[in-house]
Amino acid sequence: MQDNCGRTIRYLRLSVTDLCNYRCRYCMPEAGVEKRAHRDILSVEECVEIGRAAVNCGVKKIRLTGGEPLVRRGILDICRGLSAIEGLEELCMTTNGSLLPQLAAVLKEAGVSRLNVSLDTLYPDRFSSITRCGCLADVLAGLEAAERARFTHLKCNVVLIGGLNDDEIGDFVALTEHHPWEIRFIELMPMGQCADWEQHCFLPAEEVLRRVPALRPCESSGTAARYRVPGWRGTVGLIEPMSHRFCSRCDRIRVTADGKLKPCLHSDAELSLRGLHGAELENAIRRGIAQKPEQHHLTDGGSDTSRNMNEIGG
Ligand code: SAM
Ligand code: SF4
Repeated sequence: MQDNCGRTIRYLRLSVTDLCNYRCRYCMPEAGVEKRAHRDILSVEECVEIGRAAVNCGVKKIRLTGGEPLVRRGILDICRGLSAIEGLEELCMTTNGSLLPQLAAVLKEAGVSRLNVSLDTLYPDRFSSITRCGCLADVLAGLEAAERARFTHLKCNVVLIGGLNDDEIGDFVALTEHHPWEIRFIELMPMGQCADWEQHCFLPAEEVLRRVPALRPCESSGTAARYRVPGWRGTVGLIEPMSHRFCSRCDRIRVTADGKLKPCLHSDAELSLRGLHGAELENAIRRGIAQKPEQHHLTDGGSDTSRNMNEIGG
């Protein structure tokens, strides 16, 4: 389905929980978030019903996110239910990777087609500091488990933070020499926990090209501009919501774990989908798509959403 600006919407990001086993400084409050009552978050059946309705509205790709999707009870049932929807072409997941050692193989069996794993540093101490409680070895083991489970096209999400991990740009790009992965550098967006961080933290992703001049453009994918070092196995993606507004190419809608459809990540416009079924549910999704704003104003006034990133899913 097309929105009012002529963009074809084919991608749903479905947040299945706002809880997480990490507390990344830019995303979650240090004390975590209060656990909601079960009845306040979408049930397994509701997640699948919303997925099916979205596919009927033209969605071809669903990404499960959170919080951390792998801490959600029933995540495998959600994956099985969604992957069985006729017309859905891709079921993807963005995860911090910490639970992949145990779960990668079963996720593959449950129909997940692709994984994005978040990894902001390759130094163990720095990793524990950014995530406040994470262990780098778990995530590296998770990436290995994903490869063993035959996940292909693995992507690593690296949020670029000036003064914190920009000295690792070269090390991250070097991973693409032998791994067929896409390393995606994401510009830090000033919202929630990092809304008032100092200006030097917000580094344009183009810095990656300046630091690694050997990178050459290759075919772009979705919202990412893509590059590679000629002859290397993997690619490098730049996601630049701050320096290059990609709103005109945005093809996505989001649903939060409490069942609100968000036409835009940075708008606080939300439509409740709970309690709706069949044609009513589809009509609400169509209304949400039609209301998708033309663009965000992150760079002129900041994000309009009052939610933290763990409540939306990135
Ligand atoms: N827990 C999972 C993970 O970390 O991959 C999924 C949810 S997380 C909110 C989704 C993505 O959003 C992660 O790659 C994370 O690094 C990114 N993210 C969180 N806060 C961000 C911010 N302020 N700016 C840019 N990316 C952010
Ligand atoms: Fe958790 Fe992902 Fe947010 Fe980190 S970025 S706190 S792993 S939800």
